[in-house]
Amino acid sequence: MESSNMGSQAPAKTRIHQPCAGCRMLRRRCDSNCVLAPYFPCDKIENFAGVHRVFGASNVVKMIQMVEETRREDAVKALVYEATARLRDPVYGSTGAIFNLQKMVQELTMQVEAIRAQVLASQEQRDQLLGIVMNVHQLNPVSRTDDHQVFNGGDFLFNDDTILGYDPVIFPPDCEWIS
Ligand SMILES: [Zn+2]
Repeated sequence: MESSNMGSQAPAKTRIHQPCAGCRMLRRRCDSNCVLAPYFPCDKIENFAGVHRVFGASNVVKMIQMVEETRREDAVKALVYEATARLRDPVYGSTGAIFNLQKMVQELTMQVEAIRAQVLASQEQRDQLLGIVMNVHQLNPVSRTDDHQVFNGGDFLFNDDTILGYDPVIFPPDCEWIS
């Protein structure tokens, strides 16, 4: 946004007094036609130093001119990023960052797959447990009522009134002839 404003003539005129970072580094006069001025303001000298070291000032100017004006700001941002990465990592440069991100994506994808497998295994376990619980519920009410009817019923026979009726403790008071 700033650069589109800087691209207009008004800010460029103010740069007559203060050379852009490029012109300052190259020790040349910065005028309103300076291609670098909109993208390398005087306070961003380290940005220009980076692209100058990696690509060379004349190549930077060529690369900026190759791109249509509306896309120049993005192009310069990319050049600064690439130059910074190249200076930081002389072997891989920005490719190193891409490689690291791809590795991260791969690792995260593997983690997602592992978690997905864990979820599936847990769901399977849950289904198996639910199946067992359902079987127990289906079997137990039948067997329990059967048990109660057969065994407990039999047990209850001993406490049944019919038996208690003959209980020797209860029986005697009913026998008036004892007293
Ligand atoms: Zn300049």
